[in-house]
Amino acid sequence: MPKTPASLVREEIRALEAYHVKPAQGMVKLDAMENPYALPAPLAAEMGARLAKVAVNRYPDPTAPALKRRLREAMGIPDSLEIVLGNGSDEILQIVAMALARPGAVALAPEPSFAMYRMSAIACGLRYVGVALRPDFSLDERAFLQAIETTRPAVTWIAYPNNPTGNLFSREAILRIVAASPGLVVVDEAYYAFSGGASLLAEVGRHPNLLLVRTVSKLGLAGLRLGLAIGPRDWIAELEKLRLPYNVNALSMAAAELLLDHRAALEEQTRAIVAERTRLEAALDRIGVARFPSAANFVLVRVPDGPRAFGRLRERGILVRHFHGSHPLLEHCLRLTVGTPDENDRLIEALVPAIA
Ligand code: PMP
Repeated sequence: MPKTPASLVREEIRALEAYHVKPAQGMVKLDAMENPYALPAPLAAEMGARLAKVAVNRYPDPTAPALKRRLREAMGIPDSLEIVLGNGSDEILQIVAMALARPGAVALAPEPSFAMYRMSAIACGLRYVGVALRPDFSLDERAFLQAIETTRPAVTWIAYPNNPTGNLFSREAILRIVAASPGLVVVDEAYYAFSGGASLLAEVGRHPNLLLVRTVSKLGLAGLRLGLAIGPRDWIAELEKLRLPYNVNALSMAAAELLLDHRAALEEQTRAIVAERTRLEAALDRIGVARFPSAANFVLVRVPDGPRAFGRLRERGILVRHFHGSHPLLEHCLRLTVGTPDENDRLIEALVPAIA
């Protein structure tokens, strides 16, 4: 047998496509749900001074007590729940999938949703099953409960708010799914900061099979790569065994500790993004672009010709995400990350001819 990837790499991995990040040099970058604001200069300088003191010759302290305390304060995580840290919440998804990948195990998720649910499942040897949302992107609860019944999933992923649709599923429906699930249900709150307080954090610990995932990425710290799972002690203890010993590096830990200590600055940016979302939505209505309700830092829109609009925006230096062709429910859809007021103005200005 030839010693090539084609013969040696697992078939399902060869069939995957790598998570693709488009080059964005010099573009207005509205494709990845980043906070568009830089750190305030004094805070950036303080971070520089703090990072200069980090002992990079030493491995980081993997128990990260100071950082976990900051995360608890910033996110209102009670002491009764435990935390496991990830190199971004992407890594948390992978750790969960690894832990549950018994032979034949199934991972279930609504579709369309975050692409990494499927990727991490397949990477870890789980069988992935998607359940279509309704055309308005609400959960099809009957179909979902039916899928739970037939596939008996080891893990079910629910993004709250959902990406790329931006909406919040019914909280009651999620709790019924938790109750009906024989496996773990992971509620992924990557966008909690923009949801006006909607969260299932208060439910964690009340159900033996509910875990919450969060990240600091959308708070303005995407470059640090720091995410977390929040859950009952018994679940976190198992996940902790699969976390690579030094998965979060010392510089990210030190920076996150400092910046979460000064989180008022980040929270102000988050408020500005939420206000801009309202302004962007009003502008989209004004120029006649069909949009879906958003509780996140992006807005999903449907235009007459998605690929053409995407190309025209790109010609004008604006990078968004297009989803046409990725799922039948996302025909001609573009996902617009909320940028700064100036970026959003440029987006609207470029959208008018792009959809003409
Ligand atoms: N969950 C959802 C729903 C997301 O949209 C994203 C990022 N796009 C993530 C998790 C991963 O975020 P990170 O790895 O930056 O924490």
